[in-house]
Amino acid sequence: MTGQEASGFGFTPGVELRGGRGRTGAIHTPHGDIATPAFIAVGTKATVKAVTPEAVADLGAQAVLANAYHLYLQPGSEIVDAAGGLGAFMNWAGPTLTDSGGFQVMSLGVGFKKVLAMDAAGVADDDVIAEGKERLAHVDEDGVTFKSHLNGDLHRFTPEVSMRVQHEIGADIIFAFDELTTLRNTRAYQEESVARTHRWAGRCLAAHDELTRERSHRPYQALFGVVQGAQYEDLRRRAARGLAELDVSGRRFDGFGIGGALEKEKLGTIVGWCADELPVDKPRHLLGISEPDDFFAAIANGADTFDCVNPSRVARNSAVYGADGRYNLLTAASRRHFGPIEDGCDCYTCAHYTRAYLHHLFKAKEMLGATLATIHNERFTVRLVDDIRAAIEQGRFEEFRAAFLGRFYARR
Ligand SMILES: [Zn+2]
Repeated sequence: MTGQEASGFGFTPGVELRGGRGRTGAIHTPHGDIATPAFIAVGTKATVKAVTPEAVADLGAQAVLANAYHLYLQPGSEIVDAAGGLGAFMNWAGPTLTDSGGFQVMSLGVGFKKVLAMDAAGVADDDVIAEGKERLAHVDEDGVTFKSHLNGDLHRFTPEVSMRVQHEIGADIIFAFDELTTLRNTRAYQEESVARTHRWAGRCLAAHDELTRERSHRPYQALFGVVQGAQYEDLRRRAARGLAELDVSGRRFDGFGIGGALEKEKLGTIVGWCADELPVDKPRHLLGISEPDDFFAAIANGADTFDCVNPSRVARNSAVYGADGRYNLLTAASRRHFGPIEDGCDCYTCAHYTRAYLHHLFKAKEMLGATLATIHNERFTVRLVDDIRAAIEQGRFEEFRAAFLGRFYARR
């Protein structure tokens, strides 16, 4: 199997999951290895909200994913470049990723932020926008024109612009610029969109090739193609095969992202279709999922890494994870509870602080509450995925999955 290449990037597959498509492995990057499966912490604006990068490293997160759209608008990718790249800018020594900006450009553009939660049973409509929202993004064959969500300024992203922005930001793993559709788009539009995303993928490879040569003083950046195709099996498989075979003057994708609108119930199935068509010796990243049951479904079906904003997002709203599910620290049950968020948790917060103290911080709207709850939730998620990796290695993934999810969702 292929391991680390001269570029400093590579993937070494490890143990295969019996009776599934999942596996363990190691992604090699110029800023260190990522043991997979791995949860990638979300640091959209070059910060995992409310916590220091040192705390993120201490809780065991292996890599951070930032967002090209947000950093392009603020502070500007040239500032991140001048700082020496994303890792240097935010004082994060480990591997970094950026997503292409396509998701934010288009999802903010139509006013939907939570595409994963959308309902496919709704109307099929290619011009749908969220109620009460102005359409801020327009897609054409060459790229997307959009209004900044910060100040309304007009901007344009093309595959070439996205590649330049992501090279300037300098993450170890970057993603091809793709068109995001919603589950409400018609089948005909999804087909058209997958074909356009494939053409954009070719343009991304060409631009990436040029930028890699132009910027040879910088560490190698791996480019992942993004598989779209919504809920359609034939489209997903065709898109995955097409990207796997795509070769532009000898340059190919280093790995793959699985993106776009996914219904929760079909998440595992869709990841599986893509994984079937993608080469075993390249890593696969599932873009943006939400809850622990999704992690198991994604990993069982062949996702090596995934990013998930929920652990930190819900923490800022005083919700914390435990083996018995998620609960909110603001309820009266925590007011006089002088034990940790979760008995047995090895996180910094649980080692030093009580639920009663956190309850007080959230009640008093003190910022430290968000910091301490985020540390716990991120650690919980990292540890869960570490446990999943160990379970695959030890041949007891299904037992672990049943036991964990049975307990986590028992109160539903
Ligand atoms: Zn904890």
